[in-house]
Amino acid sequence: MSILVVGSVALDTVKTPAGERVDALGGSATYFSVAARNFTPVSLVAVVGNDFPKQHINMLKKHKVDLDGLEIADGKTFRWSGVYSGDLNDRTTLSTDLNVFAAFEPKLPDNYKKTPFLFLANIDPTLQLNVLKQVKKPKLTACDTMNLWIENKQEELRKLLKSIDIFFLNEPEAKMLTGRGNLFKAAQEIIKMGPKRVIIKKGEHGAILFSSNSVFCLPAYLLDDVVDPTGAGDTFAGGFMGYLAKAGKVTDAVLRNAIAYGTVMATFTVEGFSLDKLAKVTQSDINKRFNNFKKLVSF
Ligand code: AMP
Repeated sequence: MSILVVGSVALDTVKTPAGERVDALGGSATYFSVAARNFTPVSLVAVVGNDFPKQHINMLKKHKVDLDGLEIADGKTFRWSGVYSGDLNDRTTLSTDLNVFAAFEPKLPDNYKKTPFLFLANIDPTLQLNVLKQVKKPKLTACDTMNLWIENKQEELRKLLKSIDIFFLNEPEAKMLTGRGNLFKAAQEIIKMGPKRVIIKKGEHGAILFSSNSVFCLPAYLLDDVVDPTGAGDTFAGGFMGYLAKAGKVTDAVLRNAIAYGTVMATFTVEGFSLDKLAKVTQSDINKRFNNFKKLVSF
């Protein structure tokens, strides 16, 4: 089954101990789409400015991401800039320039409105709500967010969460949203806000899936060379949702495999800057890493 994703398509300026990239391709919807396309058809809803390099459009087309919902507006593309700590565990946002996203009012093409799977990638919750309203009874709705929106748009975010089946957020965000230091309590509180399931990402320590009556944890895949963690969370969500949409059903076994595929896809993103590695991944790379990961976590 296919997935509709709305989120950012961006030009990122990123500094890590491995080096620096200026105006490299990024954005939550970009990482998500390219990861999910390894499993299932994906349609993308976003806006870029007329400064957006054609080579990035070509790359998305090469991956057969449906771009009918990608608007090219007069103005500058969304830009984000960040710097990582020496051990890559902390990231400081230096700037966020919404640019063409500030006035973006998506009008979904008619064939997008019947999408079975909807993913609202990290972007202003007002925009996430706007897209959600236009879609007719999706089979599954999931979303991501970030600290900026928890701080500045919490009311809209909480409204959105009432209609969400699976909510992705990272550990500090879960604590920030609930004011709870204990992750188990934070997750249960988030489930009371609406989502049936919550996935809490713990960076290099893996991810935990909570429902009201079950918990499943997976560690991250150990890598010997991490270059740039930007987009890891969006790629994780792309692998997860892509696998789920391909399976077409939501059972405990499918969810567990989906977390493993999300984890595996994220490893390709962090091994390079931007989508350098992710965009070149083959089915055989994915299968090889999935099988290694299985060995790593079974006992
Ligand atoms: P992640 O590392 O998974 O948190 O995702 C990083 C990506 O999110 C980058 O490529 C940024 O362009 C994008 N991003 C950063 N801040 C925002 C924001 N406020 N809204 C939407 N996308 C953002």
